[in-house]
Amino acid sequence: MKSLTRIFKRRMSRFVEKSILPTPAESIVTFSFDDCPLSAIETGLPMLEAEGWRATIYVACGLCEIDNHLGPHMSLDDVAAVHARGHEIADHTFSHLNIMDVSADAFLANIEKNQKILMGLGLPASRHFAYPYGEVTPALKRALRKRFKTLRGVISPASTAQDANLMNAMRLYSDGTIDDAMTHIETLSQAPQWLHFFTHDVRDAPSEYGCTPKNLQRIIDAVRTSGAQVMTVDQAYSHLRQREPLS
Ligand SMILES: [Zn+2]
Repeated sequence: MKSLTRIFKRRMSRFVEKSILPTPAESIVTFSFDDCPLSAIETGLPMLEAEGWRATIYVACGLCEIDNHLGPHMSLDDVAAVHARGHEIADHTFSHLNIMDVSADAFLANIEKNQKILMGLGLPASRHFAYPYGEVTPALKRALRKRFKTLRGVISPASTAQDANLMNAMRLYSDGTIDDAMTHIETLSQAPQWLHFFTHDVRDAPSEYGCTPKNLQRIIDAVRTSGAQVMTVDQAYSHLRQREPLS
């Protein structure tokens, strides 16, 4: 597919099949980790747990136990253990597919493969999904909006509105994005919103898609000071929709 077509489809996706969520009375912050590298659960999650907070992990089971630019990845046993620690396991396709490279049918079948493995571990069916690479088309958004309660992208919020079918999220990557996040946290007390952060590996020498423990701690400290409530995606969604959270 030509890159201009990709860009057009990605941009169009922001304006179609929208489902704007209610704005919370007081700001909510969600932390999520994608894929998922072992350092996120061994280093990142304990930092959140020290605050009594829980995160959402968007797992692509096909990446389990591989070693790539994000470092070694968690095993399926780790996925089950993280769920038992109270974190939410959400879907990210089995093979970390890019919708621009495969058919919608192949993409949907790959999601079901991921779900089958997660449910085989004794986990509940995932209610939330993140588009791998943040790549989305109007057709995919339409296909997934009934399959999951929320669908997360990788675009920073331009307002306090959140489209459940293409949720905004801020990167916690290198120093520049950390500074942007720190600035955005300052708006939480004046403008109630559901702010979603995401990253990958958490290491002293992270990939370009990850962050250092020091920078994650800076964000945690700022969020604590802001007074915002920290919730998993499903807890926040259920709170906004006033439904029972996933157990
Ligand atoms: Zn990913």
